[in-house]
Order: sequence, then C-alpha cells, then structure tokens
Amino acid sequence: MRINENYLKLKDSYLFITIDRKVGAYKAKNPKSEIIRLGIGDVTLPLAPAVTEAMRRAVAEMGNASTFKGYRSDQGYEFLRRAIGGYYAGKGVSLREDEVFVSDGAKSDLGNILDIFSPDNTVLIPDPVYPVYVDTNIMAGRTIVYMDGNAGNGFLPLPGRNVRADIIYLCSPNNPTGAVYSREQLKMWVDYALENGAVILFDGAYEAYIRDAALPTSIYQIDGACECAVEFCSLSKTAGFTGTRCGYTVVPHALARAGTPLNGLWLRRQTTKFNGVPYIVQRGAEAVFTGGGPAQVRADIDYYLENARLMADTLTGLGVWFTGGRNAPYIWMRCPDGMSSWAFFDTLLENAGVVGTPGAGFGANGEGFFRLSAFGKREDVAEAMERIKAFMD
Ligand code: PLP
Repeated sequence: MRINENYLKLKDSYLFITIDRKVGAYKAKNPKSEIIRLGIGDVTLPLAPAVTEAMRRAVAEMGNASTFKGYRSDQGYEFLRRAIGGYYAGKGVSLREDEVFVSDGAKSDLGNILDIFSPDNTVLIPDPVYPVYVDTNIMAGRTIVYMDGNAGNGFLPLPGRNVRADIIYLCSPNNPTGAVYSREQLKMWVDYALENGAVILFDGAYEAYIRDAALPTSIYQIDGACECAVEFCSLSKTAGFTGTRCGYTVVPHALARAGTPLNGLWLRRQTTKFNGVPYIVQRGAEAVFTGGGPAQVRADIDYYLENARLMADTLTGLGVWFTGGRNAPYIWMRCPDGMSSWAFFDTLLENAGVVGTPGAGFGANGEGFFRLSAFGKREDVAEAMERIKAFMD
C-alpha cells in the first residue's frame, strides 16, 4: 500500500490560523477595543426572500408523496439549467442545456475537473492566486508554472511568448486582487489557448459584481472561447449561497482535445462520482435567476459594491495604489512605506483595530500587498475607513 505522496508536498496553510492567533493576542491585551474584520471572504447578508420562499415550497414538496424527489439529477434539474441558460442568453451567450452542469459550488468542480486531464499536463497559474488551483494540482503531481501578477501589469498577467502550458487558470474578477480582464485581454488568452491546444479553466465566481458593460462577465463572450474554455460559476457570492452550496460549470460541446469532447468526459465523471445537488437547493438557485429573485440579489451585490466604493475612495484620498474595488468585492492595496504584508497587518491591527488579509498568503507576488474584503456590514466598513484615514493620513 502506498499513499499519494503528493499530499506530503502540500504546504500547510497558516494564513487564517495566524490571523486568528494574532487577533486573539491583540484582544487579550486590549479587551475593550472593537475589532473590525475586513479579512474574511464570506458574505454577511442573508439569502434573498425569493430564494428562501422557493426553498420553503420545495421542502413542502419533499414532504408530500406525490411530489417527493429521490435520486435523480447528476447534472442538475432541467428547470435550473434552463434558468442558467436564460441568464447566459442575457449576456449574449447561447448555451445548450446539456452544456451546463449544476454543482455544489465552484471549489469542488475546480478541483474535480482535473480528473479528466492527464497528470502530465503542465498548468499555468497566476501568482497571487486563490490557493485551490495550486493545491489541487500539487495533489495530482502536476508541474506548475507561475505567471507573474504585479503592479506593472495591474495584476492581470497576459500570455508570454515562451510559456508552454496545457491547462491555464484565469479568475476574473480576481480573488485576491479584484482586477478584471478586459475583452481584449481575454481575447489574447483565448488566442493563446487555441494556438497551443491548451484548455482555459475560467473562474467566474465573482462575475455578478461586474457593472461596467464594457467588461466581459463570461469568457464565452470572447470569440473562440467555446473551443478552449471551461467556465466555473458560483452562487456563493452572487446570492449568499456560501453555506447553502450551489454553483455551475459550463463545458461546451465544441471543446474537444485529442478528438474527444470534454463535455462527455465530464458527464461520465459526474455520473460516476457525484449524485447531484439537493432538489431544495436547486429550487432556491432557480429563484436567483427568475421572477423577483434577480432584483433582490442585485440589491445585495450593490450593497457590497457600495462598501467597495467607500474603501476605494478612502484609499484614493490617501494616495494609496490599489487594484479592484470596482466591479469586484475585493481591494488589493500596496502596503505603505514599503512594509511587508504581515508588518502592515500588525500595524493596522495595533493602530486601527482593523483586520485584513496579508497578500503574502496568496503567493510570493502578494508580498507587500494587502487584501480588504467588501463583504462586511456598511457601518463596520465606514468605521474601518475612518480609522484607516486617521491612522494613515
Ligand atoms: N473561486 C474563487 C476565486 C473564490 O474566491 C471562491 C470562494 O471564495 C470560490 C471559487 C469557491 O466558491 P464556492 O463557494 O462556490 O465553492
């Protein structure tokens, strides 16, 4: 018996453990101080009324013999896939229902999709990055090549002439940087993938935060993307489903490699290893896209975007360089006075009682940067900005 030794190569993630330890120590020393947390990536607003109402109706159906549902939907109920298709039609993207796979969230599918690719593929991953892309590939023993995000490219790396990769991860709007690729930039990636026979894994978990009509909210708005990209979306940040769990993955029929359509491979993988998302949750998800739901979830996203605007205005006023804050729920700021990201974490906690996330936790290129999240309550964000102004001015 041999274990998968690739797991032993994973680095322990001390980021949030260290943050909690430091906050605990600060609280013990300053029991009266009110700490404001702008570090977490979780939402604070509850589910929209249209969603909870739809789930309540679905619960009643499950308790009635004539409408009860058992095993059924590995790929997702048609009513939800149709609703998602309608959402894409609104973006000018035409999808067939069997190109949409309902998931229990983007994180699972971002990891699980790797089952259909050979372990010898080389993957290209941006740095800084959402750590799941890195760890899932280390588990599979793949060779990882990093592409640099930095202040020079606005944390939006573009294809390099000398880089060879089979699988490319892109995330836009980005976690942690809040940066968003333009159509022209995404077109460069699509052209690169088509020329090299690579596959783009496009993480659109934050697409609903894009308000600027010129920016792409789906990679399929770019010509040729349906021949080279899989798209992962989530209702976690779109509609507060972080604890309810639902997302979807799009695998177009036009996407084939070595003469094999990936849609069929993914369907085979899902029908073998996944038994679908609960009916009750899928009814709640349907309400995100239909009836009164879209207006309600949009109002919640507007609330977070207004938080982000407050933060962006404060940093602009202070002359601090940052990305994000518009069309994204994250702000990625340069630490003042050349401080390291952990030094700035300590300083901000000690002087303002505000907690953020040190950029170094997202990769080597995150050193010297700091992430603020807009998912907090308005009054907390406003108070945190007053404190930051008083401390950094
Ligand atoms: N992708 C990115 C970039 C994220 O930041 C997150 C969650 O924070 C996810 C995917 C995972 O989302 P889900 O809750 O749908 O698993």
